Amino acid sequence: MSTPVQRQYKTLKDQNPDAILFFQLGDFYEMFHEDAVLVSRVLGLTLTARHRGSENEMPMCGFPMHAHAEYLQKLIESGYKVAIADQSENPETKQIDRKITRVITPGTSLEEGIKNPDKSIFLAAIIREKKAYGLAFSDLSTGEFRTVNLPSEKSFIDEIHRINPQEILIAEDLFLDEKFCSQLPKALLTIRKASPAKSAANFLQTHFGVQNLTVFGIEKIKLLIMASAMVLQYLKDTQKADLSHITKLTKYSPHDIMILDAQTMRHLEIFQPIRFDENSATLLSVFQKTHTPMGGRKLRNWIAHPLLSIERIKTRHDAVEELHKDIALRQKLKIALTPISDLERILARLVTDRGNGRDLAFFRDSFQSFLPIKTLLANSNNSTLQKKSESFNGFEKITEKLEKALVELPPLEITQGGIFREEYNPELDELKRVNENSEKWLENFLEQKKTESGIPSLKIKYSKNFGYCLEVSNAHKSKIPSDWIRRQTLVNAERLTTPELSEYENKILNAQAQMCEYEHKLFHELKILVTLQTKEIQQVSQIIGELDVLLTFAFTALNWKWNKPEIMEGNANIYVEEGRHPVIEKLSTVPFISNHLKMGSNEQHLHLITGPNMAGKSTFLRQNALIILLAQIGSFVPAKKASLGIFDRIFTRVGASDNLAGGQSTFFVEMMETSTILNSATERSFIILDEIGRGTSTFDGISLAWAITEYIHNTIKAKTLFATHYHELIDLANNLSHATNYHVSVAQNKDGIVFLRRIIPGGISDSFGIEVAASAGLPKPLILNAREILQRLESENLLQEPNLFSIPRVREKIIEIKEKSKTDEYLEKINPNDLSPKNALDIIFELKDLINKTEKN
Ligand code: ADP
Repeated sequence: MSTPVQRQYKTLKDQNPDAILFFQLGDFYEMFHEDAVLVSRVLGLTLTARHRGSENEMPMCGFPMHAHAEYLQKLIESGYKVAIADQSENPETKQIDRKITRVITPGTSLEEGIKNPDKSIFLAAIIREKKAYGLAFSDLSTGEFRTVNLPSEKSFIDEIHRINPQEILIAEDLFLDEKFCSQLPKALLTIRKASPAKSAANFLQTHFGVQNLTVFGIEKIKLLIMASAMVLQYLKDTQKADLSHITKLTKYSPHDIMILDAQTMRHLEIFQPIRFDENSATLLSVFQKTHTPMGGRKLRNWIAHPLLSIERIKTRHDAVEELHKDIALRQKLKIALTPISDLERILARLVTDRGNGRDLAFFRDSFQSFLPIKTLLANSNNSTLQKKSESFNGFEKITEKLEKALVELPPLEITQGGIFREEYNPELDELKRVNENSEKWLENFLEQKKTESGIPSLKIKYSKNFGYCLEVSNAHKSKIPSDWIRRQTLVNAERLTTPELSEYENKILNAQAQMCEYEHKLFHELKILVTLQTKEIQQVSQIIGELDVLLTFAFTALNWKWNKPEIMEGNANIYVEEGRHPVIEKLSTVPFISNHLKMGSNEQHLHLITGPNMAGKSTFLRQNALIILLAQIGSFVPAKKASLGIFDRIFTRVGASDNLAGGQSTFFVEMMETSTILNSATERSFIILDEIGRGTSTFDGISLAWAITEYIHNTIKAKTLFATHYHELIDLANNLSHATNYHVSVAQNKDGIVFLRRIIPGGISDSFGIEVAASAGLPKPLILNAREILQRLESENLLQEPNLFSIPRVREKIIEIKEKSKTDEYLEKINPNDLSPKNALDIIFELKDLINKTEKN
């Protein structure tokens, strides 16, 4: 590196080794060396080189500065960081200098936020000490900043999946812990060193302007102080701007909300379908679209954070009920919310000095909706809505000011004028007049020169380097008067000036510069006025988000005929009448068959559901989990009637979800998921188990399914729906005091099997596998052959082995083996007439070997 520019490049690159450097050279951003190679590949740009062929060959690529937004966006979306080095001129030395004006990373990109109005863009930081975790995260584009203390790795992993950040700051030792990192959600991991607790606390106090951290309730929690400071410091380092819109830090507790672990979110297809095809949809997609970006984000947030407080849940239900009932309120509120822009994100743009006149106009137009909303809410019949009306106070003055100041659609640039209305500011009007006069002067001057010279096509042109000139096309070259001074020769024309024009040029340029400067000053003043209300704007944005979601809940309930659930104090019981699956109902081309569910703590709390594949078992399981979730986020539910207690968690173990990439077998994953459930569920939890033990041999599988069911029934006592095609387990449910059998009804006619989709009491012992296969279109001769094979197998009694699990069958076997092998110590202790499901299971394991032995003898 030899030239000054190259040295500058190296210094800036060394300061930002993990970011791609956009290096301004004139009107272009250029990238060099490995950055150039990478960017040309990711963005499909042509790779060139400086000093090609020499040993100093330097790969490079670039694009015009005005096009940078699109390229930047693509790089951030691909998970890269970008540092922007802009050039500036030192007014004294006239030397060109460059410095980093901003570093954009996936977790700090304001641009990403604008592209995805319904999504939060989170940057998170993790601090681990022993087994506890401090987690802090912020959405720079809205100013949201939260922190939470998590006592175990499991609870931490669940929470970070729920937050789903774009970027995670992490200390080096954690980064090197491969097992830990493999459990994190997909995000850019950035290594950062945490500051010690004391300086971290000082840093936070300075930012928020507080004496101590008691206001945020984190003064004694070192992990949270360190994690929060890590987030804020990184934001400051990358933005190099005022972050005064981050006005508070909210500590929350995972105990305030229903924990939704990553697997449950996935299995219930809340935000993402398990498979992407034309038949996939998510719970989120069932909701009517929200009307504001704040509402879009709030909806996601509420769905991911079901409440545990009866009072808060009922408050939401009551507000939805009011909006559901009152058609005028609903429609008018929708009309008033629709023109509201993304206030939180526009505010962040203004605060970080990236705003323009158009942004101020967005505020004006949004604030104009506040009065109608306030009146609508104040006149409603619901106390929650009435209370929300108060947040819309205090914006009258600023609205009036903006209305007076701004033109209808201000330009996107703040340096080119045109932001303000006539009569807003007398000084500005005066400067504008001078400018207009100069335009007139130029027109007159041109006309005069046309006449004098006899050149009818004479034009006045302006260029940055040569200023105002008279342009004469080559055809009239000979008519150029001798006192005109040549400035520039073009292919088809000459550009010239006169002493008079030169003199006036200075005046015009001065007036223009003054006007733009003055406009800029006025813009800045107005911006400050708006940002002085940062806290109020953030608060009203939250309220707008909430209103929007409540409205969406009301519209969705009307659209899909959902009803208000009743929330019961006391036990976590569930009584659902004519419940439906919201997503399958939306997708289905045939009418959805509703089903009831009745589970009380003192009644049956474990339902074992049998039925052939495709009968509708999974659908029934999930629909009830979704009904609980919907009720606890404050929404109405897809059922004719529902009375529900408060559930602390929903657990799901659904199908076989392979994690082969993670090197784990299906069966191992299944058992891990089951283990999580068994270790964390309580009497207040709702568990759905969709097939257990399928990933191993029938014998092992049934044994495990049996033992797991019994454990949940006897020890955990959570409300559990267990779907299985092992009809051997029917006997088990019959023998447990609080368990009962149900099955999904099917009928057979001459054409095969008909799914009736009704959940009815009792087990079903036929799995109709061959019928299901026939309806799936397997060739007829093959089906006939399968039926014959089945008959033969049944007659040879080879299918008896799994039936060992019925208690009478175990008894029979014991007697039979006892007769054959009189010497076995273990058997001697067993009384075949005294079998419980539990000791029968133990005995089965022993019998398995004994059967083998006796059969060999
Ligand atoms: P299983 O778990 O018994 O194999 P599923 O629950 O996956 O069966 O149901 C299979 C398909 O049947 C679903 O994808 C859906 O299209 C349809 N289905 C299930 N339940 C119902 C219902 N109650 N009403 C209408 N269609 C249903």
